[in-house]
Amino acid sequence: MQRRELFAKILKPKADIPNAILPPYFGGKFDCDECDAPCVKACDKGLLSFKNQQIEFAPNARGCDFCEACALACSLKERTTLSLQNEARILAKVSISTSSCLAWNETICYSCMDACRYKAIDFFGVFRPLVNSKCVGCGECVGACFKGSITMERL
Ligand code: SF4
Ligand code: SF4
Ligand code: SF4
Repeated sequence: MQRRELFAKILKPKADIPNAILPPYFGGKFDCDECDAPCVKACDKGLLSFKNQQIEFAPNARGCDFCEACALACSLKERTTLSLQNEARILAKVSISTSSCLAWNETICYSCMDACRYKAIDFFGVFRPLVNSKCVGCGECVGACFKGSITMERL
């Protein structure tokens, strides 16, 4: 075991952050001890943050377009947390609130559907949108909904 790994094991709380949404291209294990997180800086949309030696994804006005920059930055550091060998997907459940969504309350609105490049939001006629299994968790719809009716939670 290398010195860096040994100290990390002794000193660092290894608890996973339970509700943190995992980043795209995640390999299943954080290899982030004493890293300066170039992946966070590589994301020009500000979607990643570094807390407790872990990378977390959170959508803002924009979502992830799977530009690969974070995974490339990680690989250049010779770390294994994010890699293009892993899936271009964010493991999250995306839900639409039926109480606040306009289209669930008899007002026509297609903002989320228009924002989704994956055709992952189905409408029943012109109302009642639901997220389908084509969703890749990019989070683009979250910022597109001006009612704040779309939430993401870690799977
Ligand atoms: S793939 Fe691109 S947009 Fe998505 S989190 Fe990584 S750097 Fe940001
Ligand atoms: S953008 Fe928001 S309010 Fe509009 S249909 Fe989608 S979830 Fe509902
Ligand atoms: S429904 Fe899923 S794939 Fe479509 S924009 Fe929202 S998060 Fe992205």
